[in-house]
Amino acid sequence: MDKTHTQNHTHTQTHTRIQTVLISGASVAGPALAYWLHRHGFSPTIIERAPQLRDGGYAVDFRGEALDILDRMGLLQQVEALDTEMGDAAMVDADGRQYATLPAAIFAGDLEVLKGDLTRMLHEATRENVEYVFGDSIAGLHQDEDGVLVTFEHGAPRRFDLVVGADGLHSRTRALAFGPEEQYVRHLGIYTAIFNLDNYLGLQNTGHLYAAPGKAANVFTARRNTEARAAFHFAADHLEYDRRDPAAHKRIIADRFAGEGWEVPRLLKEMDAAQEFFFDANAQVEMDTWSAGRVVLLGDAGYCAGPTSGRGTSQALIGAYFLAGELAARGGDHTAAFAAYEELMRPYVAEHQALGREGAERFFLPAPTQEILDMLAANAPENTRTEPVRLPDYTPASAA
Ligand SMILES: Cc1cc2nc3c(=O)[nH]c(=O)nc-3n(C[C@H](O)[C@H](O)[C@H](O)COP(=O)(O)OP(=O)(O)OC[C@H]3O[C@@H](n4cnc5c(N)ncnc54)[C@H](O)[C@@H]3O)c2cc1C
Repeated sequence: MDKTHTQNHTHTQTHTRIQTVLISGASVAGPALAYWLHRHGFSPTIIERAPQLRDGGYAVDFRGEALDILDRMGLLQQVEALDTEMGDAAMVDADGRQYATLPAAIFAGDLEVLKGDLTRMLHEATRENVEYVFGDSIAGLHQDEDGVLVTFEHGAPRRFDLVVGADGLHSRTRALAFGPEEQYVRHLGIYTAIFNLDNYLGLQNTGHLYAAPGKAANVFTARRNTEARAAFHFAADHLEYDRRDPAAHKRIIADRFAGEGWEVPRLLKEMDAAQEFFFDANAQVEMDTWSAGRVVLLGDAGYCAGPTSGRGTSQALIGAYFLAGELAARGGDHTAAFAAYEELMRPYVAEHQALGREGAERFFLPAPTQEILDMLAANAPENTRTEPVRLPDYTPASAA
């Protein structure tokens, strides 16, 4: 299904060379890019490996300029309505006794929402104007002078003017266009599992956290306290396991957390039964360049800063804004646009990757004192504001 586009924007009249853009990944970066590409007059198609939108998931937060982007997309109010409204959390010992308060500033950013809620909202904001293909993946990329011939795992081959990899830390697009992920993915020494469960502890807009040397477990409420999310984190160097085998991931967690106190035995049982379950290494993506010919990377696929940076969602939104805006501003000259996108994003990414590494180093604090937690809150990313990102005005005619 091809969308027909009316070329009624001032700057779309000039970019005759680039029109169709295939985006791999329908999470945060992909739909945000599609939104802006459409507004600038391009024809985006999104392909997503999952059979449907992923629901629920962990909470992600927005910082600084990402809120401006949401505002420019007309989505800020909707996102604010989804705010988890998380308050301070409690550090608890093996017997469940609270020994310190964890200020929300450390973990909830300027605005925090469930990732699945954000993805659903971005999908709703784009689905009228963007072609979505679920349950498929790029299988091969063949570039020539005029475009990219893309083959798929299931669908028939198609040609596009450009291909964008917004397919996350383990990006298939990156592997096909740049090489295997071992060359680019840097492990931060932490593994994380997250899953959905009932709010059986009866928490109200808060979380309980348990810490042991090199390990942490926590439960936070979600969706106005009607649900909860639990997480297990542990320190480890690179582990070998099948990334597509959740049963194996659950066994790894069960082994690591056997014999721990607090609610851990119950949480391990809840994890076994959980339908929505996430497990991965905390990692960063480091690349010298984010484009290869007509293929470019966006969000975690190109420059993941790691969960401990608290900036991944913001990077995805800001990168999407720059990439689409530069393509429009440069009349569809993709080489110039990719270079400008990279120049705008690099300093921001470097800063957030540094934050991600620092966050990973101090992640496991067994039984931290209140003084340490207050000090961390005072130095939380939104309090120690990074360099502001200058957002050029790419306003398309249709948005005026
Ligand atoms: C545990 C955890 C906690 C986090 N907390 C925060 C936080 O508090 N604040 C914050 O800002 N960020 C946080 N992040 C980071 C944030 O989730 C990411 O930076 C952000 O989601 C990046 O968005 P993305 O669209 O680039 O990639 P992703 O969200 O990873 O999306 C990639 C998409 O591509 C799809 N895909 C994968 N392979 C293929 C394929 N071959 N073909 C087609 N589609 C494919 C996936 O299914 C997925 O939909 C956290 C991350 C984790 C893991």
